[in-house]
Amino acid sequence: MSRPQTDSQAAYRLLPSIDEVLRDPRAAPLEARSGRELLQRFAAETLEVWRAEIKAGRLDADRIVTLRAAGEPYLELERRARREEGRGVVRCVNATGVVLNTGLGRAPVHPEVAEVMAVAARSYDVLEVDRATNERNQRDDYLGELLARMTGAEAGIGVNNCAAAVLLLFNTFAGGREAIVSRGELVEIGGSFRVPDVMARANAALVEVGTTNRTRVADYESAITGRTGLVVKVHTSNFRVVGFTEEASPAELAELGRRRGVTTAFDLGSGLFEPSGAPPLAHLLGDEPLVVDAVKSGIDVVMYSGDKLFGGPQSGLVVGKRAAIAALRKNPIYRALRLDKVTLAGLEATAKLVLSGRAHELPTRRMLAATAHDLRPAADALAARLARISGLHVAVAEGASQPGSGSAPGILLPTYVVRVRHATLSDAELALALREAPVPVFTRVQEGHVLVDPRTLLPGDDADLVRGFEHAAGRDAGSARRSPA
Ligand SMILES: *Cc1c(COP(=O)(O)O)cnc(C)c1O
Repeated sequence: MSRPQTDSQAAYRLLPSIDEVLRDPRAAPLEARSGRELLQRFAAETLEVWRAEIKAGRLDADRIVTLRAAGEPYLELERRARREEGRGVVRCVNATGVVLNTGLGRAPVHPEVAEVMAVAARSYDVLEVDRATNERNQRDDYLGELLARMTGAEAGIGVNNCAAAVLLLFNTFAGGREAIVSRGELVEIGGSFRVPDVMARANAALVEVGTTNRTRVADYESAITGRTGLVVKVHTSNFRVVGFTEEASPAELAELGRRRGVTTAFDLGSGLFEPSGAPPLAHLLGDEPLVVDAVKSGIDVVMYSGDKLFGGPQSGLVVGKRAAIAALRKNPIYRALRLDKVTLAGLEATAKLVLSGRAHELPTRRMLAATAHDLRPAADALAARLARISGLHVAVAEGASQPGSGSAPGILLPTYVVRVRHATLSDAELALALREAPVPVFTRVQEGHVLVDPRTLLPGDDADLVRGFEHAAGRDAGSARRSPA
């Protein structure tokens, strides 16, 4: 009984102090990067783990001598510092083939747009003041004008995201009153954004009409009362009801609204547009509604995300009739949802690119428009490079990419993928090792293979992708799991 006790006491005595760990000569450059306080915390946490291991009888004096000779526990500090640097918003390679990948930040903006945003971020900007009169004005006046020009609407405004636009809409027109929505359109869009919940928070009473699969204009009309403030159509972005279905068209709702004096709105979500000079996307995206068509229908308010098919930074874009847009702007809640200057600058720059006939240059638009034939050479070239990495088995195969973000659900875009298998790592282990590469690489996993889809690669991503595979293939099944102290 006494021997283990003595053993553990000997083991505890061999543990270095926090200061001793930080006195390692290699700690100086690490401290410059991470700061002394963080390193102290890492050292304390590491020694805590060692103490627990000793207590549990899993770490004895001999093993500690071996570990210390091998450079521990200092090396654990380096590992923790590296992990810390990989946290938060970190650039990654999207090889998933999901173009508007919400987990990976949706639309990467055009490089010129990114530059405009960087300049706005680091400088003072003419944001909310008139240059001629030096008087305060509305920060998104110009954006509203650009959006109106793009869509044929009378006016426009921008807010933080489309969810914010929906909240503002319900609160402005149906706050303390009723809003009519089709039962088939009471959707949940991505975790925690449910139309009925948002309405409740906007203080709008929900009046559901129709059934899950069929709603006619007459259903809306018979639900209109003196308390009705709004009739809303929501694009069922992320699912499709097929078969025996019927829905009221935007034009029918617009006519109903005009006749009965009720504001009408259409939440489009993805916001498809077909600017002149750019290859069309509509035929690739099924029955995704066009922003211009929604505006043309006569609906008072049309809203969509700025970071879905528009290809800009995260935002909610709202266009429509002048009076309706003015009402949204006058709501005090708008102040809490308004755009920051960096996003605003990015949206203006994106809209200007589109209006000057350069929409085809937008990264997400290029990705969506690419055919399998276009992508084949990139898949072949990647496969050739990956095949040279030892341990990888590589083949090119037909595959399917996705628009993503609830844009065009069920729509698949034909592509060529590189199918990769590792000699000893499982598909999931290989995918994990790729995500943990210095520049994280995200892939799809399918039937024992990791799939690399060239559709979503940006210029310059190839090198980081290949490095990611080199990093991942360098581990075998044993070392893929982190060794405990
Ligand atoms: C995506 C989507 C939203 C939410 O947009 P965010 O910009 O992500 O807030 C709202 N409504 C519809 C129909 C959508 O497709």
